Amino acid sequence: MKPFTYERAKSPADAAAAVARRPGAKFIAGGTNLLDLMKLEIEAPAHLVDVQDLKLDRIEPTAQDGLRIGALVTNTRLASDERVRKDYGLVTRAIVAGASGQLRNKATTAGNLLQRTRCPYFYDTNQPCNKRRPGSGCAAIGGYSRQLAVIGVSDKCIATYPGDMAVALRALDATVETVRPDGTTRSIAIADFHRLPGDTPHIETDLAKGELITSVTLPRPIGGTHVYHKVRDRASYAFALVSVAAVLHEDGTGRVAVGGIAHRPWRDETADAAMPQGAAAVAGRLLAGAKPTADNAFKVELVERTLAGILAEARAA
Ligand code: SF4
Repeated sequence: MKPFTYERAKSPADAAAAVARRPGAKFIAGGTNLLDLMKLEIEAPAHLVDVQDLKLDRIEPTAQDGLRIGALVTNTRLASDERVRKDYGLVTRAIVAGASGQLRNKATTAGNLLQRTRCPYFYDTNQPCNKRRPGSGCAAIGGYSRQLAVIGVSDKCIATYPGDMAVALRALDATVETVRPDGTTRSIAIADFHRLPGDTPHIETDLAKGELITSVTLPRPIGGTHVYHKVRDRASYAFALVSVAAVLHEDGTGRVAVGGIAHRPWRDETADAAMPQGAAAVAGRLLAGAKPTADNAFKVELVERTLAGILAEARAA
């Protein structure tokens, strides 16, 4: 691990300003992803600003009948919160499908959103990777790409966003609240939070330098049956080949977001409108324009099959 300096921030605005003024500075909270990347020298921050002392660990109702989740609420606490389990079951199911109990005890809401891809070439520092070293190339294109993206890809990067919780948040239209280094705040729709790779795959979110996530807000509950189905190579502690987050209503309408197929949680509201027509119609709209590789073309059919299974189970219930 490369040497770095360290400080503990006293307020969100101080933390944002501290990261903004130091080149190579990063925030750290649970550290469940960042510390691994630092040990492998994939990330080498010159300075860490620890935000764990900030009072961002509450889950509280909003004036709009939603819930505000502090950035430092652990994944375990969020998944087990009674209000979340009752009204936002999709969030609980997605979190429980991810990582291990030990990691969920330490990982935070904001950190979960910011976890980085598990593309194998991103982790192999002997390989070219535009995300790890901009301009160096992409070993995954023409390489081993079974786990990688089938839609929203570019000729610079075909990596996937690896998380589960954000897929549920995308289906529920959450917003991400931030504070900037000058102390101003803003809300980012989850749909706009994660970027597609384009020509700059190393820029993964809409956050500016020093901008700190303070909370995630869930809108008023939308009811329905919440299902998160994650298809992976083994039953636990593995990233999704495909995951489907669905909210199903009794009249046949609903919403769907998909993980494991793109550089961000994938949703298309026109596909939601096709829910009453069944899985093939939804998948057809969701995956219009998909550009899979020979290794991962199976994911296109897997999305449709997974959704078909969810709809069949819901009808039988
Ligand atoms: Fe790097 Fe993206 Fe290519 Fe993977 S797909 S090697 S993360 S540029």
